[in-house]
Amino acid sequence: MADRPHLVVIGAGPAGLAAALTAARHGVRVTLVDAAAQAGGQFYRMPAAPLGTRRPRALHHKWRSWERLSGDLDRHLATGRVRHLADHHVWCVEREATEPGPAERKATGPGPVVRGERPRSPSRAGRSGVAGGPVGAFTVHALLGPRQERGVAIRADAVLLATGGYEKVLPFPGWTLPGVLSAGGAQAMLKGGLVLPGRRVVVAGTGPLLLPVATGLAAAGARVVALVESADPRALARAPGALAARPDKLAEGARYAARLLRHRVPFLVRHTVVEAHGGDRLDGVTVAALGPDGRVVPGGARRLDCDTLAVGHGLLPHTDLAGTLGCGLDGVAVRVDDEQRTDVPGVWAAGEATGVGGADLALAEGRIAGRSAAARLTGRAPEPRSRAAAACRARAALRAFAAGLDSVCAPPAGWAERVTDETVVCRCEEVTAGTVRAAVTDLGAGDLRTVKLLTRAGMGWCQGRMCEPAVAGLTGCPATTVRRPFARPVPLGVLAGREERDNGEDSAVRTDGRAASATAADTGTGTGTGTEADRCESSKDRRQADTDRQ
Ligand SMILES: Cc1cc2nc3c(=O)[nH]c(=O)nc-3n(C[C@H](O)[C@H](O)[C@H](O)COP(=O)(O)OP(=O)(O)OC[C@H]3O[C@@H](n4cnc5c(N)ncnc54)[C@H](O)[C@@H]3O)c2cc1C
Repeated sequence: MADRPHLVVIGAGPAGLAAALTAARHGVRVTLVDAAAQAGGQFYRMPAAPLGTRRPRALHHKWRSWERLSGDLDRHLATGRVRHLADHHVWCVEREATEPGPAERKATGPGPVVRGERPRSPSRAGRSGVAGGPVGAFTVHALLGPRQERGVAIRADAVLLATGGYEKVLPFPGWTLPGVLSAGGAQAMLKGGLVLPGRRVVVAGTGPLLLPVATGLAAAGARVVALVESADPRALARAPGALAARPDKLAEGARYAARLLRHRVPFLVRHTVVEAHGGDRLDGVTVAALGPDGRVVPGGARRLDCDTLAVGHGLLPHTDLAGTLGCGLDGVAVRVDDEQRTDVPGVWAAGEATGVGGADLALAEGRIAGRSAAARLTGRAPEPRSRAAAACRARAALRAFAAGLDSVCAPPAGWAERVTDETVVCRCEEVTAGTVRAAVTDLGAGDLRTVKLLTRAGMGWCQGRMCEPAVAGLTGCPATTVRRPFARPVPLGVLAGREERDNGEDSAVRTDGRAASATAADTGTGTGTGTEADRCESSKDRRQADTDRQ
């Protein structure tokens, strides 16, 4: 096995799983790295193992596709073709190879990656055909376990980024009250922890994620007071080519509508939550009807009593690791070619990281990426167009559907006007909308970076991931492409190079971070010995690293 080229796939959601299994099937040794304790990503999020669920399928749709994926994964784990490193949080991927200049990248694309070769010069990469091209030699740096205090460095010949996306939540008065949580957060509590976030829930915002959240909570016993969608889903019928591309999505929508009906969930379209109310915690929300211009219709507001608000305004791609590698972006998503190759040689990307489009699209992209990576790593030509054509057709149709959905499910135009000056926008640094606005109107800031420097909005733990769309919307400054050196806070000891080395050739299958951590502790090669005192020191380090980073 050790003589096979080594692909590290980061992210074990639908895209990463499909890519890893496809690449392994085509002769590549794969290490699948994920921050979560179990494979599955957001779509196939499984209950924590100690909960001992007997019927996890009750919380899922498309269970059969999960059974196929997890069955394949088990088989590949057993043969050693795939290793799964769970509880591994990747904070940086380093590339040790000569990069071609932008012109050559444009002319040739990333080219194949052939294991064992030295990095080629840009000019050679430019001339190369299928069998040539620049070599990737990568080090994937990860932090282990829930505490993320010890580091491991994994060598790879190529890297595939399947890091998914994260939720966008726009602010409104009262959104920081206990009882208000993100729609995906509510779903994660249910699917991963088997708990309801509350008894009487309003699900609100915009986008297709609201449907499984509302129906899932209702099926699990919550009273879903209303599903409040600011867009009008009927507009999808008018989106060019969207439904024609995937008529099956119409049936999926109808199934959700039937479930809402069955659970007597009122579906308020072209409505929005304008305020959340409560003292110590949420006790109700005001919802209002929206006019065609996205603004609240006068006299159209009413109160809904609830103890929980699950709110979300769509998803954004995770591009941090791609950014550290220097991959180009298309808007907010990682740019890829037809084979899911980024414009950095040896780096592929698939799934939500390359554009938000749902689990089916993530699976299709993962398969295409895995096949391409395997072909190029083993020095074979990518498979004939005819065989790849079906996957590519499915990808094109799903992308067209996602684009149609995206054009319909945008947050209402007037949302920023309804954010009062007192509303906290950056929760990490507790910066209000008034302070953010004043940075532009009184202090003359003209871009997000200056707003950040003047107000600290975006300087906290999440580094602006949560508040940046809000700050951009409130100030009118375009969202910037941030290239962070690290994808997450890193202990100083790990930064100082005290990492466990992993050459990816260990045939032992480690399926969780505990095993890897134990190795580090046992051999003394990790950055801590695992004692409580060490853990305290490390968490101090982490806080210090966070302060230093700011
Ligand atoms: C909160 C949330 C809930 C969702 N719920 C639904 C739903 O109910 N129904 C539906 O149809 N779609 C849902 N979606 C959309 C759905 O998740 C995606 O369409 C699909 O899962 C995309 O697959 P993916 O493989 O691209 O990403 P994901 O499934 O998001 O998988 C990405 C994986 O990468 C890992 N990862 C990310 N960064 C790192 C890192 N630095 N180091 C290590 N690992 C990392 C994550 O732990 C995760 O397991 C949801 C999305 C989100 C964000």
